[in-house]
Amino acid sequence: MPCLMIRLYGIVQGVGFRPFVSRAADSLGVVGTVANKGSYVEIFAKADAQTLERFVHIVKNETPERAVVISADVREIQDTDFTSFEIIESEKESGDIFVSPDIATCDKCRQELFDPSDRRYLHPFINCTQCGPRLTILDSMPYDRERTTMNDFPMCEKCAYEYTHAHTRRYDAQPVCCNDCGPQVYIAGRDIKGADAITLARKSIMNGSIIAVKGIGGFHLCCDAANEQAVSRLRKLKNRPAKPFAVMMKDMQTLERECEVKPGQQEFLTGYQKPILLLEKKQGRLAPSISPDNPSVGVMLPYAPLQMLLFDYPDAVQMTDCLVMTSGNVSGAPICRNDEDAQEQIGAYCDLILSHDRRILIRADDSVMDWFDGKPYMIRRSRGFAPLPVMVSKKARLQSLAIGGELKNTFCIGKNELLYLSSYIGDMADIRTVYALRESVGRMQELLETRAEKCVCDMHPKYNTVTVAQETGLPLVRLQHHYAHILSCMAENDCDEKLIGVSFDGTGYGTDGTIWGGEILLCDTHSFERAGSIKPFRQVGGDASSKEGWRIAVQLIRDSFGDDAQLVCEKLSLCDKKTFRLQSVMADKGINTVTSTSAGRLFDAVSAILGIRRSSTFEGESSMCLEFAAERFEKQQAECEKTAVRIDGSGFETIDTTSLAGEIARRFIDGEGADKLAFVFHASLADGIVKCCESISRKTGVKKCALSGGVFQNKLLLRLTKQQLEALGFEVLIHSLVPANDGGIALGQAYYALCNTDNDK
Ligand SMILES: [Zn+2]
Ligand SMILES: [Zn+2]
Repeated sequence: MPCLMIRLYGIVQGVGFRPFVSRAADSLGVVGTVANKGSYVEIFAKADAQTLERFVHIVKNETPERAVVISADVREIQDTDFTSFEIIESEKESGDIFVSPDIATCDKCRQELFDPSDRRYLHPFINCTQCGPRLTILDSMPYDRERTTMNDFPMCEKCAYEYTHAHTRRYDAQPVCCNDCGPQVYIAGRDIKGADAITLARKSIMNGSIIAVKGIGGFHLCCDAANEQAVSRLRKLKNRPAKPFAVMMKDMQTLERECEVKPGQQEFLTGYQKPILLLEKKQGRLAPSISPDNPSVGVMLPYAPLQMLLFDYPDAVQMTDCLVMTSGNVSGAPICRNDEDAQEQIGAYCDLILSHDRRILIRADDSVMDWFDGKPYMIRRSRGFAPLPVMVSKKARLQSLAIGGELKNTFCIGKNELLYLSSYIGDMADIRTVYALRESVGRMQELLETRAEKCVCDMHPKYNTVTVAQETGLPLVRLQHHYAHILSCMAENDCDEKLIGVSFDGTGYGTDGTIWGGEILLCDTHSFERAGSIKPFRQVGGDASSKEGWRIAVQLIRDSFGDDAQLVCEKLSLCDKKTFRLQSVMADKGINTVTSTSAGRLFDAVSAILGIRRSSTFEGESSMCLEFAAERFEKQQAECEKTAVRIDGSGFETIDTTSLAGEIARRFIDGEGADKLAFVFHASLADGIVKCCESISRKTGVKKCALSGGVFQNKLLLRLTKQQLEALGFEVLIHSLVPANDGGIALGQAYYALCNTDNDK
């Protein structure tokens, strides 16, 4: 009888792949073996030719929901003696490795969780072959129980039976456990465990307390999202006046009561990744201070059994159906993952800590997604997504480490054509984040069995990421920030062609030593040319100027109005006479002043000019509110009036945003509405970008554009720019599952390394 060896590559570990193969073989009468080789699954199969054909089709195409077969290698081999179909133990082999992200609790487990006759009734750690923690409990590959933190919990007889028998739902489920043998929940620092701990946590929430809850990838801070007092107390404690809090809703019904759900979104909300999705708020029960002055709110459904039990438990507590679930960390620092961190860092923000004894090895924050053009538009790519690789067609033999950006840091490990973008690490200004980056880089290199030959980092001389890169001792490649953004967008779209990159964000170190931020680059995967930018302005006041848009506004007004500038600033309530003079002297003498083309700061300045936000309490606040104002106007208006101002340079395209800001100020003083002018600003900027691309295209013949950088989280600017470019016949690449913000930088860096190796095949 014919015999085949089938090797399947892709996400085939920890997703119930071997039991699936075994069941398929049994149902067809195929004999042989299946083994997990770390980077692939290897099957030996024997049957008549027709049956084998059917079998190969099934294992390639009818795979379990969470599995992804990326490639298959099928070969005929010599007849071998098989009498039955068996699953054989994992043996390590080297090759491309796919680590599964954590998977949200499945429907069947959820049913069992609330079924009093089930032996895992109310078990806070219920999971199966199809669901449960993966990456966060993993120590090394291949994914087997002894290499996870579940090794701390020897299985009871019943669990061991399920774990080893292919006909059960928990065959080969590494984190399998039950009420008798699994981890336990408890209140940290107190002798309260199990059911009592959960009931106390629920009671406390309903009494208006704030609690910390240990989840899959770290702690959350949690309170009743319908209790204004509790939410505003959390704001005070965390010193976070306005940045929106994410809310976990009990079920889809609750979610639809509170938010508008668009077609396609439900699939992501209820799917196995369960990210936070930004949705439009309805007039519901959420406390106003959940997301003040913001038409949307970030929501998610429970994805871990303990979260489900917080909403629903057989005790006397009348529970809320909306919980604040914000990352348990000090702003900018990594999310806390053990009791010591939690007590030390977020202990002061909460009244009690609901913890458990299953260790978290790799942190995973919740992923955050926005929505654009009927598709997800990633803001933070972490739990459920990282470290799934981005695959490109460009082939080269190289292992690289891309260390990422300084804010919203993620790193990326490149192994041949696979680019493994890490989960979210944090902002490098906090030294704890630097430690976390070092540790995560080490752990992921071990998990993926890579040894980088090259390290890519930013060009900024003072970045902590650059120090971490230098410590590796590897040959360093320093890559310009805005170019890395465009490369990231190119990698996500598997593009290796020359294009015009529109890279708009807050701050990046330019090749000329000034601060760049609103850049038009003519680039391919090997190099770039700065073909245009917004008009440079003076940014006075160092770090303060990145939060205080009024400072930028003052300089733009000075550049536009000359001698009348002081009067205009007073009329716009930007600053008084004395402050104006001080700002002017500093700018003219170059004291604590840099030249900048930051698009982010330009938005902040216009927000200040229109009296929307004079300064920001969190990154992006001023510009976000400017966008909301423009969207408000657009909603009410069918036809929108817009004006664009542009001046050509010699060979270099300058978008004259200074004149634009001046005109906005003039019209605002003349009595036009802020919302309308906010829209005019967006439309004009989009117009300026498009004209700039057109002009470059005329000179070069390039008809392809990529839009990247944090400013393109602004969906109004994104839509206006993309639509106009497409109307002119441009092909426009944008992001979807990789963030446009600095969280995507590392992917661009790794793609550069891949495209610029000496041993290109
Ligand atoms: Zn399950
Ligand atoms: Zn058990």
